[in-house]
Amino acid sequence: MQRTSLVVVTNRLPFDETVPVEGAYDWQRSAGVLIEPRHAALQGAPVTWVGWTGRTGPAPSLPPTDGVRALPVPLTDEDFRNHYEGFANATLWPLYHDAVEQPAHHRRWWDAYQRVNRRFAEITAEAAGPGAMVWVQDYHLQLVPAMLRELRPDLVIGFFLHVPFPPPELFMRLPRRAEVLRGILGADLVGFQRERSAHNFTQAVGEALNLPSSGDGATASVDVGGRRVRTGVFPVSIDVTAIEALADSPAVAARATQVRRDLGDPRTVLLSVDRMDYTKGIEHRLKAFRELVADGAVKPAETVFVQVTVPSRERVEHYDILRERVEREVGRINGDHGRVGSAAIHYLSRPLERVELAALYRAADVMLVTPLRDGMNLVAKEFVAARGDGGGALVLSEFAGAAAELRDAWQVNPHDIDGLKDTLIRAIDAPESEARRRMSALRAQVRAHDVRSWADNYLSSLLLP
Ligand code: UDP
Repeated sequence: MQRTSLVVVTNRLPFDETVPVEGAYDWQRSAGVLIEPRHAALQGAPVTWVGWTGRTGPAPSLPPTDGVRALPVPLTDEDFRNHYEGFANATLWPLYHDAVEQPAHHRRWWDAYQRVNRRFAEITAEAAGPGAMVWVQDYHLQLVPAMLRELRPDLVIGFFLHVPFPPPELFMRLPRRAEVLRGILGADLVGFQRERSAHNFTQAVGEALNLPSSGDGATASVDVGGRRVRTGVFPVSIDVTAIEALADSPAVAARATQVRRDLGDPRTVLLSVDRMDYTKGIEHRLKAFRELVADGAVKPAETVFVQVTVPSRERVEHYDILRERVEREVGRINGDHGRVGSAAIHYLSRPLERVELAALYRAADVMLVTPLRDGMNLVAKEFVAARGDGGGALVLSEFAGAAAELRDAWQVNPHDIDGLKDTLIRAIDAPESEARRRMSALRAQVRAHDVRSWADNYLSSLLLP
């Protein structure tokens, strides 16, 4: 394999802002995002990361971290409003997630999408060494591959979509569908989480651009004026070693015991952890739980439900409305079924520290991950990795990308409230031998496919002739 430099391009840099030090900002690598020079595919080659810091205004100068050089892209408030909140998160996000909320369309959002994509492409073109590999990621930056190819035909360009690619009948609604597809097709390799997305993409390319493709799903390639663009399936994953080490630590064990005690030592602890997003199926899940409690199938004194929702995109209208609806439903369930000193649902609406999150994973008997549509869902994999004790059960939506790999989870259709209720009860009441067999198979799967192998597989495939 050829030794070369790599430029990774993401909307956000993988650094969390920490305490400001004397007017400058200090950054540390955020957990979970791992593309490093020590990857086998890179063989120690230098890595540059292009992305936005999360703060609008002039870009700061950032020191290298773990051998990765960070190159911030400056964004204005208007860029943020129209590119990030607008086209990316109010047009593409709902459209790509089965239009579970109506995608909104505004022409000024498209202008901003092009402008911001161009800025990313220009900064990347300037930073990349001769013949470098560039790995562009996700729905915010779909025009970058083609823009970059025009500026720097010498580069090897990869694109990976973390969210689902929707069926053509939905994608074809996008007013700028042809431009978006041409943007992605600037890449040499287009990666998806699931085979279905790869298939949808080649279908859309055929319908919208009339370009021929051969093969299907994982092995397809599209002929773009004599240039071959390959598609492939690379399910993203987590840093299994880091999560195992954290979850097995004495601090997490002590905290997990304390959590169960604080919850009143119930027979069963149910847990869900989601970003507050309409794709996550939070309302369907709450409805199923409310009915189970109302039917008497679940008794609040024996079974408590901990629902963590991390606030997200709060300035986008749908998100604000969702939060109100979720909180009203939690209030209703607790109002109807809670008692003084014992709520039916424990609802936390804020980000958690890593130790607290790992302790919740460890304290739970049943983890409910029931999105209506999700590119992957890393929470499901984190829960599995955290259960080095072999305990716990995972109820998983068939519409999460993770469902293709986590076959031994209790899989559900989250739209089917009766099915959701039945499966939840079966997972709660499963004999211990069955629960342990399922978890052990899930753990073997997650351990064999961590985030390092994801990046290595993608990059090795990108370098294939
Ligand atoms: N997470 C977090 N803080 C929290 C709760 C969750 O950082 O308080 C993390 C969680 O560990 C996971 C990520 O947020 O890595 C959520 O990823 P996922 O793929 O499940 O959903 P997304 O939010 O990307 O749609």
